[in-house]
Formats: sequence, C-alpha cells, structure tokens
Amino acid sequence: MTQHHDHPHPHDHGHGHDHDHDHGHAHDMSELSETALRVRALESILVEKGLIDPAALDVLIETYETRIGPRNGARVVAKAWADAAYLQRLRADATAAIAELGFGGRQGEHMLVVENTPQEHNLVVCTLCSCYPWPVLGLPPVWYKSAPYRSRAVIDPRGVLAEFGVVLPASTRIRVWDSTAELRYLVLPMRPEGTQGWSEERLAGLVTRDSMIGTGLALDPSAAGDAA
Ligand code: FE
Repeated sequence: MTQHHDHPHPHDHGHGHDHDHDHGHAHDMSELSETALRVRALESILVEKGLIDPAALDVLIETYETRIGPRNGARVVAKAWADAAYLQRLRADATAAIAELGFGGRQGEHMLVVENTPQEHNLVVCTLCSCYPWPVLGLPPVWYKSAPYRSRAVIDPRGVLAEFGVVLPASTRIRVWDSTAELRYLVLPMRPEGTQGWSEERLAGLVTRDSMIGTGLALDPSAAGDAA
C-alpha cells in the first residue's frame, strides 16, 4: 500500500473520514479468531439494522450452553448409570455408544468417557483453545474458554474446583484431561446415593453440565427438588 487512504474502488467516500481507528484495536483483535471476528461483525450489523435484539441472542446462546446442549450428555450419563451393558459399550467405544442415542457429528467425532470414582476425579480443559464436545454438551460456557481456566486447571486443579464449590477429599486424585480437536472428553460423574430404582429420565435431571466437565458433581437427589 503506497498511500494510507488509497481506496481500490472508484466510489471513494471522499469526505476525509479518518480510518485510523480501524487499526487501533489490533492487539485486542488478535485475541479473537477469524471466526469470532466474523461472528462479532455479523452480530453488530444485525443489531444495527434492527433485525435481532442482542438480549434475545444472549438468551438463545445461554439456552444452548446450559439447557438444550447438556441435556444430551445428561441422557448418556443417566443411561450409563442405569444400564450396565450400556456402560460397557461406553467404555469400549464412547463415540459409538453416544451415537446409539442419536448424538454425534461435528466436534464430537472422537469421544472418550472418563469415569469419576471415590479415588479419582476427572477434569476437562482445553489448554490451547476451547475444544469441547458439542454433540453432548452444546456450546462451551464463557469460563471454559477463558485464559485463567485454561491455565489454572492444569497448574492448580484443586484450587479451581474449590472456586466451583467442589471440595474433594485429599485422598481423591484429580486427573486433568486436555481436550483437542482429535479427542474430546465426557466426564461420567458418580451416581448420587439414594437414587436406586430411579428411571433414566429422573436420573438425567441430576446431571449438570459442570458435572460432565468435571467442575461440578451430580446433584444430590434431596437437594435437586423434583427432577422428574
Ligand atoms: Fe481447543
């Protein structure tokens, strides 16, 4: 580029508008991926034109993060709790066992299920970016993508868990799994006491999103209210 304001098109604005601000946020923008930038631009345009309400969009995203998405994973976990043969299949080939319930596709092509026990608790992170098993958990929560979670989950998993309100016995080992584009993890939380004879549907009501990432535990049935 020879001249800063040179415009390749003949219909230049010609009103001396200063475009320098376009380059002023280079540092901030470098934190965002190409896709994130495009999504942000698209959202701005849609909001400006009055085609979408940003609040409604937030509600939609929140719904996929916390309600619709993780319900798939909750059904997988509940079935594994209730059906020993299914649990075996899940251990042998999680991707295939998850597909039995109709969940699969992008960002979930290669799944591994890691089981919590009294001796071992599993925690999932993506230290590089935000790899997450979309077919079973939906969209990743904001904190999962944040730099502090990504670094501290590895350095101080017990401290991170405490911040989520999860305090494990000192004798419980914490294993951290680094999610990648090739392999994504679903944590199988421990089945809560006092749920003998519960239907899969009712059990699924105890399975939170965070319990399948490892930053939470399955809900206590007495505290969960009417989960059915
Ligand atoms: Fe990633």
